[in-house]
Amino acid sequence: MSGCFRCNLTIPERQSHIAVKKGGKCARSDGSAEFIESNTRTTPGDMTERGCTYAGCRGVVGGPVKDVIQLTHGPVGCAFFSWGYRPHVADTDFHMKYTFISDMNETNIVFGGEKRLLQSIVEAAQEFPDAQGVFVYNTCSTALIGDDGRDVAKQAEALIGKPVVFFECEGFRGVSQSAGHHVGNETIFKHLVGSEEPVGDTSTAINIIGDYNIKNDLRTFEPLFEELGVRILTRFTGNVSVNDLKSMHRARLNVVHCQRSATYIAEMMHDKYGTPYIDVTLFGIQAMSAALRKVAAFFGLEAKAEEIIARELGRMQSQLDYYRHRLSGKRIFIYQGAPRAWHWIEMFRELGMETIAAATTFGHQDDYEKIFERIQEGGLVIDNPNVLELEEVLETYKPDLFVSGNKEKYVAYKLGVPFVNGHTYDTGPYAGFSGMLNFARDIDRALTSPVWKLLHTNARPVPEQLHALSDAT
Ligand code: SF4
Repeated sequence: MSGCFRCNLTIPERQSHIAVKKGGKCARSDGSAEFIESNTRTTPGDMTERGCTYAGCRGVVGGPVKDVIQLTHGPVGCAFFSWGYRPHVADTDFHMKYTFISDMNETNIVFGGEKRLLQSIVEAAQEFPDAQGVFVYNTCSTALIGDDGRDVAKQAEALIGKPVVFFECEGFRGVSQSAGHHVGNETIFKHLVGSEEPVGDTSTAINIIGDYNIKNDLRTFEPLFEELGVRILTRFTGNVSVNDLKSMHRARLNVVHCQRSATYIAEMMHDKYGTPYIDVTLFGIQAMSAALRKVAAFFGLEAKAEEIIARELGRMQSQLDYYRHRLSGKRIFIYQGAPRAWHWIEMFRELGMETIAAATTFGHQDDYEKIFERIQEGGLVIDNPNVLELEEVLETYKPDLFVSGNKEKYVAYKLGVPFVNGHTYDTGPYAGFSGMLNFARDIDRALTSPVWKLLHTNARPVPEQLHALSDAT
């Protein structure tokens, strides 16, 4: 594709965010020799799908912590998607069951909301005495009126005797939710990490960094690492207690899965405690095998890793062959937050499928470099697409399958394009070896569902039927 999408004729700024892979390289649609533009402010008037900084901090990094009161300081609208949206499950459901907000109204905005915030924290802590702390997330309006949330958090901490962590993640702080991931990492590192010592032997301890346990992804690979002979000290931040975060500095190795939202904390631990880290992908067979091998090599457990990999591959081979046979040659359009777009191009390839287009909401240059390395020649790449662009790709390129998230699901359904929810998973989990089979199963189901044959059926009663109905009444 050259030039703009049809839908973007009035937003020519979008051209620098759209490119194809040509001669193995990025060829921007505006003809410029520069790399695709990313991680910059959205053009006013362009209906981005992005979330704000608060969304990235509350929804992705802080939200999965299972035993703290998750409190938004702001008007109720900011908290609208803070409940029931991301299935970052844990072995308790407190964080999934409740969401808290200081519920700022007009009077509070005029006269200040600090007293209201303090009262909200204390009241919530009294109502839920088992909670191990409070995470408070700032929003645009409370930042603009100058509420000193940090000071309130200190006062509240003294009153309730538990950690109260204030995240300065007001929505306008960055260009997308990606800034919120950064704030979340820095705040947790500064306020919690290193404040307690772990119990037990840490000589083989690792932290899993950047897995949020969407629909139990951790369940697919944690037992394999444990079988390898390592101890998982802390998960950042899927299925984790606030107390586990305090002692994560004693791990021997950080294993970083989401390299967009969580490398920050691995780098900070490296700088302060000298903890090395490795990048891994925990989606797909080759990648999961490589992750086990990398961790094994660090601890000298290579033989055990080979034993586990051989057993797991043996177990899944016949099912994998079955799905490969059925899915081979299918063409995919993937649109995810950022790393999953490049993680999954490889996963599709392992199933014999081709990625014809890939897009991310908040990818940075390094994400796009990995996408261009992996996508096939001629593949379309879009940064921060708007919904009209997504529709145009679906209608023009006609992929067999669209893999995206909740917001895009209904666009796909209305256009009659088979869809798999790769963001919050309608089923899952999709990580690890067993997750790969779940992924293949869900793709197969989406592609072969009989519903697509009914798409052009007129479900409205014809006039004769209406007459018959009125005669009968
Ligand atoms: S952009 Fe600001 S007002 Fe909107 S949800 Fe985010 S924090 Fe709230």
